[in-house]
Amino acid sequence: MKILLNYIDGTLKPPVSGEYLDNINPARGEVYAKIPDSDARDVADAVDAARRAFPAWAGLPAEKRSDFLLSLADLVDSHVDELALAESIDTGKPLALAKHMDIARASVNLRFYATAILHFASSAHPMEGLATNYTVHRPVGVAGCISPWNLPLYLFTWKIAPALAAGNCVVAKPSELAPMTAFLFSELCIQAGMPAGVLNIVHGLGAKAGQAIVEHPEVPLISFTGGSSTGKRIAVTAAPMLKRLSLELGGKNPTIVFSDCDFDEAVKNTVRSSFLNQGEICLCGSRIFVERKIYGKFKRAFLQEVAQLSIGDPLHPDTFIGAVISEAHAQKVMDYIQLAKEEGGNILIGGKRHLMEKEHAGGFFILPTVIEGLSYDCRCNQEEIFGPVVSIMPFDTMEEVLHDANSTPYGLAANIWTLNVQKAHQVAQQLDAGIVWVNCWLLRDLRTPFGGVKQSGIGREGGFEALQFFTESKNICIKH
Ligand code: NDP
Repeated sequence: MKILLNYIDGTLKPPVSGEYLDNINPARGEVYAKIPDSDARDVADAVDAARRAFPAWAGLPAEKRSDFLLSLADLVDSHVDELALAESIDTGKPLALAKHMDIARASVNLRFYATAILHFASSAHPMEGLATNYTVHRPVGVAGCISPWNLPLYLFTWKIAPALAAGNCVVAKPSELAPMTAFLFSELCIQAGMPAGVLNIVHGLGAKAGQAIVEHPEVPLISFTGGSSTGKRIAVTAAPMLKRLSLELGGKNPTIVFSDCDFDEAVKNTVRSSFLNQGEICLCGSRIFVERKIYGKFKRAFLQEVAQLSIGDPLHPDTFIGAVISEAHAQKVMDYIQLAKEEGGNILIGGKRHLMEKEHAGGFFILPTVIEGLSYDCRCNQEEIFGPVVSIMPFDTMEEVLHDANSTPYGLAANIWTLNVQKAHQVAQQLDAGIVWVNCWLLRDLRTPFGGVKQSGIGREGGFEALQFFTESKNICIKH
């Protein structure tokens, strides 16, 4: 059985406690690796190492830091098969998805910030005849980066790449539910010759190791992606310490299908935006509003496509839906399906666990589920389920759909399907969301700001926004 280690001060180390947690393969429901059960002592060691490494790392020319990130990206590319297999086994997601989305994007994240930092220039503001101001961006120190289990290496690199590129040192904690690729990444850092202490990875529980990072007085900035309730807990700890926070939190995203859409494209992409990665993507659309004129036709076509989705062994090349992350999460999703029935919902398809045989008999599989007949304001349409479950509802007017779409406490992403450009602009402008996709979904340009409104988060990642977050601006005014 593989035993994972922390990566602290350039070396792989066991946790101070000597205790380990079980790492479970969700497609089999079996323990297959052990994870360090780290605590505040491991975090303190990691922060000390990061503080020691900071002056030299921050003092390197940006080109040198860029070179390190580029060599890490090269190593990710040359280990793509191994990393994708590890990601698939660790999370239950289909292997092909892990390869083409997760690991491919991890490499792109590293390359993007390795090059973005070279274009992150200082600005100057001359006061004619009087003085010149110039503003420089300095790294802050030790950044705490805490990431979730749904897109493990993808979101891990999305945080550490801008932090490191900007000259900070990092103490990162991946989710204890999906730590394997972060561990393999630490081996790649050693191979790449990353200076000791620049990146430190501490494995363990959120409430213990994660909380210790947030509480540590020498970690002045925290970049967190995860659930809204955890985000609030982190804010409560960080606020009195005046830490800088970036919170990327949950979503309950609407998909709005107007009758003047490209019908086939809308159906095909709504299936994808509902069920990709078992619906375990913060950007998945889970409330599908369809204009009543085409509701019946859309519903039939949608259900026909959903019925074709192949569910099962994540390692099989044809699998579209794998296992959800854990038994506890599967139970939570099933509880919402039960609640939907109590709230008056009619299960059109799915609604059950998918039972498998032999080595997958203990796996956490849930059939893609479509529910009709729920009111826009019931709990199933207001709370994040984060699984392969969507609700489909008809609407009559633009005012009505805007009201219902904006009715949740969340505001991460939204998806609109219409060929009427005016309507697209009008609806996009009025939706409470940080990201709106029109006639597409998950089409990402990494230069654009990424984040949510309301309870979906605080701050923006992506592009120069992340480099702003990971640096302090200092203005220097020189009188002529
Ligand atoms: P959690 O909030 O449970 O956990 C996220 C991370 O925080 C994990 O590493 C977790 O560790 C850690 N953590 C938990 N408690 C604490 C604490 N008190 N202090 C510090 N760290 C802590 O989220 P999930 O992992 O369940 O991820 C799913 C959620 O993430 C969904 O709500 C989803 O919408 C959201 N998400 C948001 C995205 C966005 O960009 N807005 C993108 C992807 C997901 P551990 O796992 O060990 O408990």
